[in-house]
Amino acid sequence: MQIRFIMCSMLLLFVLNIGNAQEEYYFPEGVSFNKNIPSPSEFLGYEIGEWHTRHARLVSYMEKLAEISPNAQIQTIGYTHEKRPQIILTISSESNLANLENIRQEHLEHADPDGKEGEIGKMPVIVHLGYNVHGNEPSSSEVSMLVAYYLVAAQDPAVQNYLQKGVFHIEPTLNPDGRDRHTTWVNSNKGVPAVADPWDREHNEAWPSGRTNHYWFDLNRDWLPLTQVESQNRMAFYHKWLPNIVTDYHEMGSNSTYFFEPTKKFGSENPIVPRYNYDTLNTIFAKYHQEALDEIGSLYFTGERFDNSYPGYGSTYPDLHGALGIVYEQASSRGHIQNNGSEEITFPFSIRNHLRTSLATIRATIDNRELLLNWQRKFFRDARNNASGNVYVYGAKDKPGKTKQFTNLLLDHSIEVYRLKNDLKTDDRSFSKDFAYAVPGKQAQNLMVKSIFDKVTTFADSIFYDTSAWSMALAYDIPYTEISSRKLNMGKKITAEDLKTEIPEPVRSNYAYIIDWADFKAPAALYYLLKNEINIKAAFAPFSIETDKGLQDFGYGSLMISLHDQSSSPEEVYKLVSEASEKAGVPVHAVVSGRSAKGIDLGSPDFKDIGLPDIVMLTGEGTSGYEAGEIWFMLDTYLEMPVTKVDRYDFSRLDLSEYDILLMVSGNYDSLDSERIENWIKNGGTLITQRTASEWAIKKDISAIELKKNDKEKDSLARRDYAAKDKYEGARAVGGSFYQIDLDITHPLGFGYKKRTLPLYKNSRVFLEPGNDAFSKVAIFKSEPYLSGYIHPENLELISNSAALLAEKKGEGTLIMFSDDPNFRAMMLGTQRLFINALFFGSSIF
Ligand SMILES: [Zn+2]
Repeated sequence: MQIRFIMCSMLLLFVLNIGNAQEEYYFPEGVSFNKNIPSPSEFLGYEIGEWHTRHARLVSYMEKLAEISPNAQIQTIGYTHEKRPQIILTISSESNLANLENIRQEHLEHADPDGKEGEIGKMPVIVHLGYNVHGNEPSSSEVSMLVAYYLVAAQDPAVQNYLQKGVFHIEPTLNPDGRDRHTTWVNSNKGVPAVADPWDREHNEAWPSGRTNHYWFDLNRDWLPLTQVESQNRMAFYHKWLPNIVTDYHEMGSNSTYFFEPTKKFGSENPIVPRYNYDTLNTIFAKYHQEALDEIGSLYFTGERFDNSYPGYGSTYPDLHGALGIVYEQASSRGHIQNNGSEEITFPFSIRNHLRTSLATIRATIDNRELLLNWQRKFFRDARNNASGNVYVYGAKDKPGKTKQFTNLLLDHSIEVYRLKNDLKTDDRSFSKDFAYAVPGKQAQNLMVKSIFDKVTTFADSIFYDTSAWSMALAYDIPYTEISSRKLNMGKKITAEDLKTEIPEPVRSNYAYIIDWADFKAPAALYYLLKNEINIKAAFAPFSIETDKGLQDFGYGSLMISLHDQSSSPEEVYKLVSEASEKAGVPVHAVVSGRSAKGIDLGSPDFKDIGLPDIVMLTGEGTSGYEAGEIWFMLDTYLEMPVTKVDRYDFSRLDLSEYDILLMVSGNYDSLDSERIENWIKNGGTLITQRTASEWAIKKDISAIELKKNDKEKDSLARRDYAAKDKYEGARAVGGSFYQIDLDITHPLGFGYKKRTLPLYKNSRVFLEPGNDAFSKVAIFKSEPYLSGYIHPENLELISNSAALLAEKKGEGTLIMFSDDPNFRAMMLGTQRLFINALFFGSSIF
């Protein structure tokens, strides 16, 4: 007992000691803390920076603060894919917290161009302190605890002033699933003493690393497409509050220092964000960050490198909402301590730098509270008042599912959408009032409207860190037009509730059911029925037939469920067909006769059996987690279809004959036995490759196709200045942009499309020659293919007339090659169908 007591006291002393040491190291001099509130280290039992803190412990600490401090409230805004809570700790003065809903409403009204101007002298500024979007850039989540502790426990009149004048929403981890993946890795590999050698396991996290979320998506690219649940939850909270300041904390390579905004003038900036944001606000804040880092002697740089143009970044999206979004990058210790070649970077060092810029941001925000509040009001007013007066009209009768999904995306971004009062006909398009919508430019969200619809074709710079094109209308392949509002009669404003239309229950048939393959959700219904052992045939030619809804036209790929060749009873078939219709949200048509009014009859040999494919995908070290994750996500959440994810290193032991389809995304496959794969194809397998996997198949002679090369690259006499190297190479990268392809819509890989022209997103330097088989050039880039985004003229020449999608017969099997990634970021709903066609129809092509 005695011994135990002594041990406990020693532990307590130790804890208190490290608590004090910690406060001295991390916080500015002279701050004292309320002893009734536990510091992070007192709560966790280890010093901040000594271990990486698991998400659950972070949440517990924030809950503790909310429990014991009258200045903190906690809420869960949703759950990640792996069901970790996404929490927000809100800190402010007691009187502000008691009045929080009124503050929120006044804030939103003040930002609204039609709303009443708030009493600016009294209004708190809204600060969203977001941390750790990339799970393996972990220092900033540790910072979130220190910042929260500082705001609730620091006994300093300056902090009391912050709480009076600000509402601070702390989001400790934007990516909890990825963070825990990384945290588990570094903690479980940490040595005592810690090992600084960069070759140690601790510093070399296993594939797919914790950067991404559960489905291997980069959440710092998802603020615009909102495909991931974490982003959807965050976006709802964002628009509930419209913060004035949003922080976006990162870590970069170990061999660096510290970066804060502004980013590279013009080059890395978004083309439609007002200059005031970059020139005035960023400059004001940079001064505070500079002083904070000078004070502790940390090196930094600014005004170069990091990109701030794509609206899907966490530091750019706020700039398009009258806020200041700020990106911060700290050289990573990636682990607890790492030697970067010239010095040892420690985890506490990276935490301290991020903490100091966080505190500087808070100070800058409070000092400039009125400026920020005035700016946001002016931003939204200007956005609306300076709009051209044009309206975007979009939507299509033959794309109801996609039109609905696109509309939901607009509503998630708080964009106003209206119905049409009348049908609209333009020179090249017609829009039915029942299937199209109108988005006026004259609204507060005009800059987001432009981001979603407009093509970007002129650039101040030629180097892009990432994509240079982000039109969601092109990504979805949604038909749209821009017309003057004077020529349009807009109807009622719509809400998400209005879009919840129910699909009518199918009419029972004793003969057959038909599902139109053009429907966006038809593949989900197909998989559901196949899984339940329903025999399904697909139409390899169009037809028109009398249905319960009258005479209907059905295009290539339409699905037919005949009652005569099922092992289930007609009642059971009807039940499954109804369930598929409801689950997928697709209408089912009942027919009573096999005779078509036009085209093939239902008994025609052009109706071909579709089987349930067994799919395996190569993943693991050396393969692209992003691309594999997009496929996994799409199959899981959209088709609810399993895919076996095999590690590349286990591949030699895999019995390939168990599978119908092998998926290969970009990767390094040099060590793979290509002959084995080729023989498997010849025996009836379907290999689907994309980007560099297509290049691999060509180099290994699995494909007879050739790669298209740039003749100019062969000029070995060319000589250039060393200083121009980055610019030269950067300008020739294919960061990501949109091109027109011509699609063979009679080919099984083109089934479901009604138009031959389709926008395709290209972000690879894989250029395919179309080859010699006249009937297998499924999609070819047009001779003048350019649509949107930056591209170097030499690359544009290579893209023109090259192949985007090819099918090749090999023995009994098929090779399908994509030059690019048709599922990019799960936002390319325009080209996603090409990939789905490859899964279901790939084995029926030849
Ligand atoms: Zn990052």
